[in-house]
Amino acid sequence: MISVNGLRKSYGDFEAVRGIDLEVEPGEIFAFLGPNGAGKTTTVEILEGYRERSGGEVTVLGQDPGAADRAWRARVGIVLQECRMEPVLTVRETLELWAGYYPNPRPVDETLKLVGLAHKADDRAGHLSGGQQRRLDVGLALIGDPELLFLDEPTTGFDPAARRQFWDVIANLRDLGKTVFLTTHYMEEAQALADRVAVIAKGRIVAVGTPDDLGGRAEEEATVRFRLPADMPPAELPADVGAAAVEQNGQLVLRDGDVVRLLNSLTGWALERGVELDGLEVTRPTLEEVYLRLVGEEGRA
Ligand code: ATP
Repeated sequence: MISVNGLRKSYGDFEAVRGIDLEVEPGEIFAFLGPNGAGKTTTVEILEGYRERSGGEVTVLGQDPGAADRAWRARVGIVLQECRMEPVLTVRETLELWAGYYPNPRPVDETLKLVGLAHKADDRAGHLSGGQQRRLDVGLALIGDPELLFLDEPTTGFDPAARRQFWDVIANLRDLGKTVFLTTHYMEEAQALADRVAVIAKGRIVAVGTPDDLGGRAEEEATVRFRLPADMPPAELPADVGAAAVEQNGQLVLRDGDVVRLLNSLTGWALERGVELDGLEVTRPTLEEVYLRLVGEEGRA
C-alpha cells in the first residue's frame, strides 16, 4: 500500500526527514510514533500528496503521491487534526454532502453505524461533543470508501472512555480490510491497535516492529517487584534473592540475573515461611518505556 525508499525533506538548510524507508502492507494498521518535531507530519503529508519531497522514492497505492490524480485521491481517506464541517448541517446531511464528491461512496447509514453516530444522525454537526466530531471526521474520511486511511492523532484530547470507544471504530476499519496509517502520541493506543509500529526521531527511523517486539522488547527480562512486611529486614530473604534485590520507592525490585529462578526462590521461601509479599508483580517493559529509550538514544546520538 505504501512503499518509501530513502525519503528526504529539507526546509532550507534544515533536513527534517533524513532518508527513511517504510513498507505498509494491505490491511495493516501501521502506527507512526515520534517526539514533537521528529518529522511525522512532514512524512505523512508527503505520503498524502500535500507536500513535495526533496529526495527518495514514494509509492502510495501504486502511484507517486506527488503526481496523483483525482481517482487516486478517492482511494485515500484523510482525517486531519481539526474538524471541517458545516455546523448547521446535521450529521446525516454532512455525510450526504461529502458522499456526493466521490464516485463510489459508502452508504450513509452504514457509515453512521460504523463510526457509532447512528443515534446522532439528525443532530447538527456543530452540536456534537469533541469526541463525536472526531467520529464524524472519520465518517467523512470513510464516505468515499477509501482503501487507505491516514489518521493524524485521532484521539488527542479524548477522555479515557471516549478513547477506548474510538479504538472500536478503528478496529472496525480493520475488519473492513482497510489499511490505516495512524499517527499518535499515545503508546497504549499503538499497543492496542497497531499491527506494526515505526518510531521516527530527528528525521530517522530508529525502530520498526510489532508493538510486542519493538526494540527487542520481547526478549527483555521481566522485572519482579514486591514488598516485605514492615517488620522484616531484607537480610531475611533467601541469599540469591537478597543479593539481587534493589530497593526502589519502598519496593524491592529484581531485574538482573535469572529472574524466573529468583522468583521461584522468593515465592517458595514466602510460602514456607508464611510471609505476605505485598504488591507482588511481574512486568515486562511497556511500549512506552521502550519508546522513550529509543527516542532518548537517538537524542544523544
Ligand atoms: P509534532 O509531533 O510536534 O506534530 P512532527 O513529528 O509532526 O511533530 P514535523 O511537523 O514533521 O514534526 O516537523 C519536523 C521538523 O521540520 C521540525 O523541526 C519543524 O520545525 C520543521 N518544519 C516543519 N514544517 C516546516 C516548514 N514548513 N518550514 C520549515 N521548517 C519546518
